Amino acid sequence: MKNIRAAGLAALSIFAGACASAPIVTPMNQFGLPAKLAPTPTAAAISEADLKTRLYIFADDSMQGRAYGREGNMKGTTYIANELKRLGVEPAGDNGTYFQEMPVVQRRFARTSALATGGRALKWVDEWIAMPGVAAPRPFDGAKVIYGGTVGDTTTQITAAQANGKVVILMPAAPGTGGRGGPPGGGGAGGRGGAPVNRFAGAVAIATVDLDAMNMGSRAFINDSPQGRINAPPGALAPPDTTAGGRGGRGGAAGGAAGGAAGGSAGAPAGPPQAQIRITRAAASVLLGAAIEGARPGAEGGTVSGKLDFVETPVPQFARNVVGIIRGSDPKLKNSFVALGGHPDHVGFDRNPIDADSLQMYNAARQALMNKGGELHQATPAELASIKINLDSVRKLRPVRLDSIRNGADDDGSGSMALLEIAEQVQGMTVKPKRSLLFVWNNGEEVGLTGSAWFTMHPTVPRDSIVAQINIDMIGRGRSKDIPGGGDDYLAVVGSQRLSTDLGQSVVANNLKQPSPFRLDYRFDSTTVWPGYNNIYGRSDHANYARFNIPIAFFFTGLHADYHQLSDEPQYIDYPHYARITQYINDLVLDLANKEKRPALFKP
Ligand SMILES: [Zn+2]
Repeated sequence: MKNIRAAGLAALSIFAGACASAPIVTPMNQFGLPAKLAPTPTAAAISEADLKTRLYIFADDSMQGRAYGREGNMKGTTYIANELKRLGVEPAGDNGTYFQEMPVVQRRFARTSALATGGRALKWVDEWIAMPGVAAPRPFDGAKVIYGGTVGDTTTQITAAQANGKVVILMPAAPGTGGRGGPPGGGGAGGRGGAPVNRFAGAVAIATVDLDAMNMGSRAFINDSPQGRINAPPGALAPPDTTAGGRGGRGGAAGGAAGGAAGGSAGAPAGPPQAQIRITRAAASVLLGAAIEGARPGAEGGTVSGKLDFVETPVPQFARNVVGIIRGSDPKLKNSFVALGGHPDHVGFDRNPIDADSLQMYNAARQALMNKGGELHQATPAELASIKINLDSVRKLRPVRLDSIRNGADDDGSGSMALLEIAEQVQGMTVKPKRSLLFVWNNGEEVGLTGSAWFTMHPTVPRDSIVAQINIDMIGRGRSKDIPGGGDDYLAVVGSQRLSTDLGQSVVANNLKQPSPFRLDYRFDSTTVWPGYNNIYGRSDHANYARFNIPIAFFFTGLHADYHQLSDEPQYIDYPHYARITQYINDLVLDLANKEKRPALFKP
């Protein structure tokens, strides 16, 4: 219990100081950490206090979950760049700045969009809304309405010929019937839905009757995707000879950012994408001119009039990679780089706030159900239904706190801030390492590893001068509660021996030099059956460096119950563990940067 008590007291003393300047008084949670923490000046040495100060800033609600292509993301990258400037790190982005911009856009339909039939106009958001694709959709003015049947149920659906040129109304697949919810052809965000061969490809619009189940917040998100999309010219994200699809990203396949929005299904005729509309049952009845309940596939409705006003807004400032260099001291070796990576983006915010404490407690109970016998199991519906949350003890501590921000403190606030902490430590060294250090905050990791794909295709230093890439994504947790085998000495390492034995050996040797070495977990180098842990090697930014034969090592402390949740907050981070991992990675990077020989690649 020592750590927690010590941390609590330390925090209290910090609080005593801070109260003078910022009167923030919040009770401590079960880890002795507050929900909010006043920042304190950082110092060169790697410390829990510095990491706390940085992470409570970078993962604060004001960062709005740092979604790619959204304003919150710019707040995050601006904080990092300001810190690099304060630390005197050399800018290595575009035109002498710290930023490398990407052609990212926000796509949505303007409220001037209209849909009517028989002189009856449908109300935007209340009765209908549309999901933007990669371009303005086919016009549907003057098209006839037809009832097409149910998504996924090809036995009763109308034929492709009946659908051609029409507005096809579809009922969503019943939950659990395997027919995927949402419209066929799945334009818009990440290629949701989408039968492989879409018999309705010839329709001018698909109108799916599933809006009633959504509240206003979720409806608005349909037209205003939480994340921006890169509008990259073909070949900008992947070298010609490798299929972008091969690299699974956490945020969906690498194509997700660029491809998914293209209606993603085979058989889609060239030209503008099909309009993807979502409607209420009442709206469906208006369009059909008869009650949708009991309608038979093939029933025809009125002729529609209307348009969808597609708006594409370039937002490069909301999706920048951040790049900085600390120059090496050796006249020759300083022209080579040890690269460090983290991703500054996370998944944004929800439109409907919920009680943060009950979510955190529910997630912790779910994780406890999954951690059994040193392995991770999928919790059964019956087990999940058995979870009972007793909020009394928490309520005694603090009132209900409604929350809608996915803070991404661990994912990947922990990696992004560890990079800053290492930069500050190295800037404090009088003699810099021989090779240079290249710090890259690869943006858009959550939408298909987009930023690292862009940086490795448009590197701001010669690509072959990068001798290794050390990627950090989620090193702030790893307690035994969080992952089977977790604990104070837990650290997972992935890919360190895949392209270079030398690198693998440096990882081990530097660990053994630590005051208390970590139990390095290599199990994710091979496939594991743990739910949520598929293909870890392909799911973070190192994969895009490795594809260019740059030896990589990826460090993380495992997924956990708060992964991508509102509850991935700074107050749940294990700071003593996090600080020791940051110190270890600092030492590894310095060792690699001082080696005369770069890590040798495997000779096939
Ligand atoms: Zn991540």
